[in-house]
Amino acid sequence: MARPERRTVRDLRKGNRAVLLRALYFVGPTSRHELTALTGLSAATVSNVTGDLLSDNVIVEAGLVDSDGGRPRVLLRVNPVYGYAIGVDVGETHVRVELFDLDMNEKAKAEFALRPGGHEVELVVRHILAGIEAVLADSGVAPEQVLGIGIGVPGIVESGPDALIHAQTFGWDSVPLGALLREGTSLPLYVDNGAKTMGQAELWFGAGRGSRNAVIALIGSGVGASIITDGVTYRGANSSAGEWGHTKIALGGRTCRCGGRGCLEAYIGAEAILERAGLPLDTATEQAQLAELVRSGSPVIDETVEYLGAGLANLINLFNPERIVVGGWAGLTLGHHLLTKIKKAAAENCLTQPFSTASIVLGRLGPDAVALGAATLVIEEFLLNNTASPARAAAAL
Ligand SMILES: [Zn+2]
Repeated sequence: MARPERRTVRDLRKGNRAVLLRALYFVGPTSRHELTALTGLSAATVSNVTGDLLSDNVIVEAGLVDSDGGRPRVLLRVNPVYGYAIGVDVGETHVRVELFDLDMNEKAKAEFALRPGGHEVELVVRHILAGIEAVLADSGVAPEQVLGIGIGVPGIVESGPDALIHAQTFGWDSVPLGALLREGTSLPLYVDNGAKTMGQAELWFGAGRGSRNAVIALIGSGVGASIITDGVTYRGANSSAGEWGHTKIALGGRTCRCGGRGCLEAYIGAEAILERAGLPLDTATEQAQLAELVRSGSPVIDETVEYLGAGLANLINLFNPERIVVGGWAGLTLGHHLLTKIKKAAAENCLTQPFSTASIVLGRLGPDAVALGAATLVIEEFLLNNTASPARAAAAL
């Protein structure tokens, strides 16, 4: 039997703080009166907790709004410069580091190219640390104003102090990325799979906004998915849930980069598409090559649409999402031209009822949303466990 939870007054206060901060973050400027209605907290609690948040400089006043005949109401919002978040995208072809304020305005960016197959751990770690230094220097933001660093990586991320990464396509086997980075930075680190970070970005700010049950399907060189159930990313027992690219679409089919056969990624991943079309692999030209295949109506693309449709239908049959967001650079290239055909292929492979209640839409944040998504890992922690640091509050003034 589950032990009854003991909640102390401090827990309750922290919980109320998180509820109000979350409402202010996602709804935007809101009056105390509206916050009471939005959160179900009493007017006295809203008044107390927002008072604390204001004095900690976590939230600020944002103008006045008329109330029906009464005194104008003060609007409150999260202070966009209370702190900053750094997002890192470790991709196939680059390491990208971006620094955001709490409104997710990009303040600085650094990018390092990776050559094909050049994913040595030491090199990636060096690029990430150099990127962090560069965005801090370019933005003029002091390290103590940074709430944390979120990092989106390929493969499976075991949560824990070392953030162990298993990325077969990178040749990374139990790489302790968190521990390695900690030798170069003392800022809090949050590491997750890139598809999951992009999923959270689309869920919070893009095409997934407002949905409680969604799947964000990321198609680039690799193929992954972020599964959102009841508003929360589904992780599974060891955080590997969502390895959609390695679900089997053909028994004994094409060899996949994971070493298995017949994986979805071996058919709809960008490199797999180009390979099937007999084109040479070159990361510098692959985006143009794929766009040209789509434009010329290549039969390989027709076949890819069928595989993609079947893959999406599997997601719908398994998870009953209200929305599937197709993203990633290759997903967007295919989707911008072929969404109707993709939907048709999904319908043909899906149970009628769950298909009829699911919409398939394209990502809105573009293919570069992994770094933004990685930064949301930092924001998530800030919204959940914010206990103001006076030094930081002062520094943000
Ligand atoms: Zn595979």
